[in-house]
Amino acid sequence: MSVHLRAAMSALPNYVAGRKTPGAIVLASNESPYGLLPSVAATIAGLTAGVSRYPDMSATRLIDAIAAHHDVSPDRIAVGAGSVEVVGQIAAAVVDAGDEVVFGWRAFEAYPIITVVVGGTPVKVPLRRHVHDLGAMADAVTDKTRLVLLCNPNNPTGTVVGAAGLTAFLDEVPDDVVVVIDEAYHEYADPALVPDALELFGDRPNVVITRTFSKAYSLAGLRVGYCVGEPELVAAARKTQVPFSVSGLAQDCAIVALADTAEVERRAALTVAERDRVVKLLAVAGLDVPPSQANFVWLPIGADAAPFAQHCEAGGVLVRPFPDEGVRVTIGLPEENDAFLALLSTWSPVR
Ligand code: PMP
Repeated sequence: MSVHLRAAMSALPNYVAGRKTPGAIVLASNESPYGLLPSVAATIAGLTAGVSRYPDMSATRLIDAIAAHHDVSPDRIAVGAGSVEVVGQIAAAVVDAGDEVVFGWRAFEAYPIITVVVGGTPVKVPLRRHVHDLGAMADAVTDKTRLVLLCNPNNPTGTVVGAAGLTAFLDEVPDDVVVVIDEAYHEYADPALVPDALELFGDRPNVVITRTFSKAYSLAGLRVGYCVGEPELVAAARKTQVPFSVSGLAQDCAIVALADTAEVERRAALTVAERDRVVKLLAVAGLDVPPSQANFVWLPIGADAAPFAQHCEAGGVLVRPFPDEGVRVTIGLPEENDAFLALLSTWSPVR
């Protein structure tokens, strides 16, 4: 006899995390390669005793710090264990069984999982030339749609949609449909190409913006993300958070990291410079790589994706294959990127 599982579980894919092989260069998980911010490293040592206690469940100091950082009132901020939990909290607050959740595909691989977990139906809108097709996404919104998930820059392609396109899209989406603009890679994006959704759309009640401490703030392992949105929606997202999911250590480190703007910007600029160097060299190698505004690049090499990732792994570099679609390569330290490029130059497709 086996326990009863929801029928949806059989179709629910596992989240595929980037691999970690001891000694390998890891360019598979879109992390910062620079290690902890020195300010955060210094903070952690003094905080370890606190982990024997439950943290502040309402994360008041962290929420106040984020609110001050964005110059908004604290009731517009909800936090979670990474922005992936925050997106899930929003979905849990707005999606009923059978409701539709629209997102581009391929986009962040957690979106279909989040959708199915809350009982929703994923509506995947194919990208057009690796970019979100906003016209098709607007057309995919029906009276069953409760939520749209839009990552800008997109994972795994790194591509972006601009202010004009986004504005037209949001104008078309009905006011009662919540649109999450997932800005996990915001710090790596050129503001001339990628609108700051908070500045441009922060006053729209159905738009909620998510950000994370996992990428540019180098805190992927401590799990802190947040959203900025309309207070009623934010209050609902707070209710659906797993109690105490953001540890006290994570809260305190996020506060320190948030204040360390100069170091975060310096590191993001290094990554952007490396990204642009890698993209140029990929073009020289004859690869047609879509322009990236994130901390990774997308190699749309189709059937070569899995064998190419194996070739890289054999050479000590872990990249992220999406079989039959492409490979996502995180921008690491210059020498790590060079190791990847060297492996590319010794790769010959098996065909
Ligand atoms: N959104 C996007 C688009 C991402 O790529 C990721 C990380 N892969 C996340 C959200 C979640 O990151 P975290 O939960 O660590 O904040």
